[in-house]
Amino acid sequence: MHIFLANPRGFCAGVNMAIKTLETAIIRFGLPLYVYHEIVHNTWIVDDFKLRGVKFVSMLDEVPEGSRLMFSAHGVAPNIRERAKQKNIETIDATCPLVARVHREVLRYAADDYTIILIGHSGHDEVIGTMNEAPESIILVEHESDIHALKFAQDEKLVVLTQTTLSVTETKSMIELLQKKFPNIIGKSNANICYATQHRQDAIATLAALVDVVLIVGSENSSNSKRLAERGEALGVRSILIDGVDNIDVGWFNGSERVLISAGASAPEYVVQDCVRMLQKIFNATVEERQTCSDSLSFQLPID
Ligand code: SF4
Repeated sequence: MHIFLANPRGFCAGVNMAIKTLETAIIRFGLPLYVYHEIVHNTWIVDDFKLRGVKFVSMLDEVPEGSRLMFSAHGVAPNIRERAKQKNIETIDATCPLVARVHREVLRYAADDYTIILIGHSGHDEVIGTMNEAPESIILVEHESDIHALKFAQDEKLVVLTQTTLSVTETKSMIELLQKKFPNIIGKSNANICYATQHRQDAIATLAALVDVVLIVGSENSSNSKRLAERGEALGVRSILIDGVDNIDVGWFNGSERVLISAGASAPEYVVQDCVRMLQKIFNATVEERQTCSDSLSFQLPID
């Protein structure tokens, strides 16, 4: 077996910043420490912080008055910030700056009387936070069929924005459909898809042709990890999302000599290396790193 390791893979700048912020907060403030939703969508990271005493909550009611709460990388709705303030809760904001930028765009366009068409997944933490910035001005679309159902007056001011972690190809085609149906709509061709999502999907697009099987390390609720596996499948290569080494079934590789491994933006590198070691042990695999672009962004922590 020969393993190609996609590069870039794994942690993005926003995930790095959020994890380091939580680690810094544990040292600086100690426990109890609450986090609103999963700090990032990865079971290994969340379970590790739980073991260290961090409490993850899905409702502010679970956070006592006057305690300390961190907002996760996916961002949070403004009413949650407001309620936290009312409960005298000290907050630390680990929202990825690229998600925060979408929130600001929503506010700017809503103030300018635009109707915002947001492409994203209903119920995703990021989408909930973004939509709540201006719920009366935003319409969520998930599929092309949602676009077919849209109707606006001819002079309606329209803009398209997106969740940051979508499929690059699907989003492009949805935006093209919007532009065809509403020629006056404004917004970029890939809207708000972030650099990390784009780079990881581009790497799969470049490297999948070299292999028989693609393994994507990432959790089931990680949007960008799922999109990587879908990209491999769309290219006709069997692509499997795994949370960790225990999910690997050696039967997948019968007759498969070349395997591509990548990881979603919230998946830790040690999980990738566990998978590589397992395949080396069982199949005597050789390993080759393949870099398709540079991915060296970093964000400042919101606390010292
Ligand atoms: S995937 Fe993109 S938007 Fe999400 S945390 Fe990483 S850099 Fe930020």
